[in-house]
Amino acid sequence: MPIIDIHIHLSDIESFHHTARELSGVDYSVAGLQSEFERNDVILGVGMGVQEQTKGAFPDKDALNPMRLDLADPMPPFLMECVGINPVQLAGSDGLQQLDAIEKRLASRNVAGIKLYAGYYHYYVTDPIYGAVYELAKQYDLPVVIHTGDTYSIDGLLKYSHPLTVDELAYQQRGVRFMLCHLGDPWVMDAAEVVAKNPNVFADLSGLVVGDRLKFDRFMNEPLFMDHFRRALVYADNYEKMLFGTDWPLAPIDVYIDFVKHLIPEKHQDNVFYNNALRVFPKIAQFLAER
Ligand SMILES: [Zn+2]
Repeated sequence: MPIIDIHIHLSDIESFHHTARELSGVDYSVAGLQSEFERNDVILGVGMGVQEQTKGAFPDKDALNPMRLDLADPMPPFLMECVGINPVQLAGSDGLQQLDAIEKRLASRNVAGIKLYAGYYHYYVTDPIYGAVYELAKQYDLPVVIHTGDTYSIDGLLKYSHPLTVDELAYQQRGVRFMLCHLGDPWVMDAAEVVAKNPNVFADLSGLVVGDRLKFDRFMNEPLFMDHFRRALVYADNYEKMLFGTDWPLAPIDVYIDFVKHLIPEKHQDNVFYNNALRVFPKIAQFLAER
């Protein structure tokens, strides 16, 4: 079964290097990703752009827009990008110039969407600072991918990353497709409701466990842990709106595929692992046809 991994990273972020080294044991490089993709029939990955100007600063207020996959230059043919937005810089004196730089990048063939780091940056997704970004999303027919749930940094603020914040945004911006990252974990029931209620909201299943095979085995053998996600998926009852992603390098690809297969009924796996990505991210089909 061919797979699209809708959520990976390939940016020079100290905490990702550390996680790869100490927790997941993956080779955090283009070559490392390519070999894991090849072994697991993953035909395309979508990288979430993010950058730090100073080592360890993520979420870095000083990172310039658009934030990119700075470990993947040039971009390999098995990768597309969601352009990362830093709202702090957008609000600064140089904001309009950076908005221009974002728009230039959006026109590229290997850009699949736009990524907001809610929680990491202390702005609600309904903050007017993002208005121009949603206009661009509409204009270029690109989905806006939003971090929701726990933050992978003690400097995040959870009130900004709660999945319920996206309900109001989805209502205000019916012409834009949104994808909640991590199913809003730990608020997975709230995320399931936002997905079920709003026709323009989808969710990815990435980053639900961070670590290596040993760690995954421990959690996959804990029914309370698995049922936490199953309850939300059963409640949403819409496997056409759930997308497979790993959040690599936070976990090895093969281990994460096993994990998601345990959560998704077999008859829905083609949709979750492949078809839904094409529906939410129209530029993927175009990219695959042309490469
Ligand atoms: Zn991520």
